[in-house]
Amino acid sequence: MSAAPCPCQTRSAAHPTTPYAACCAHYHAGPLHLQAPTAEALMRSRYAAYVLDRVDYLLATWHPSTRPAAIDANPPGLKWLGLEVRRHTVMDADHASVEFVARSKLGGRAQRLHELSRFVREDGRWFYVDGDSP
Ligand SMILES: [Zn+2]
Repeated sequence: MSAAPCPCQTRSAAHPTTPYAACCAHYHAGPLHLQAPTAEALMRSRYAAYVLDRVDYLLATWHPSTRPAAIDANPPGLKWLGLEVRRHTVMDADHASVEFVARSKLGGRAQRLHELSRFVREDGRWFYVDGDSP
């Protein structure tokens, strides 16, 4: 797993694919647990958590005011296909939004989630608050 490309698909010219171990794994566990430095990094790490079924991380990064009691695990047959971050808008030091498209396939049918997500930073930690269709 550690050498596999990160599901969040962060890329740079120098690193066409970033290994999971050098990417969202830092925020899912270890010394940088829950320390994603930007709303976009948090959003990407949450997408990776959906792909990897890390429900604990999804709940921990959900703002307490909107956090559900539980998150359904991925339904059988669901396959995440990719993430495209369209826009990362920083309102101020503690508020930001990220527009993204996440693609998946369930039972052979393509699905597309297009969301504008809101994030807030409290005590130095970014949280997902909510989102809607842009
Ligand atoms: Zn990643």
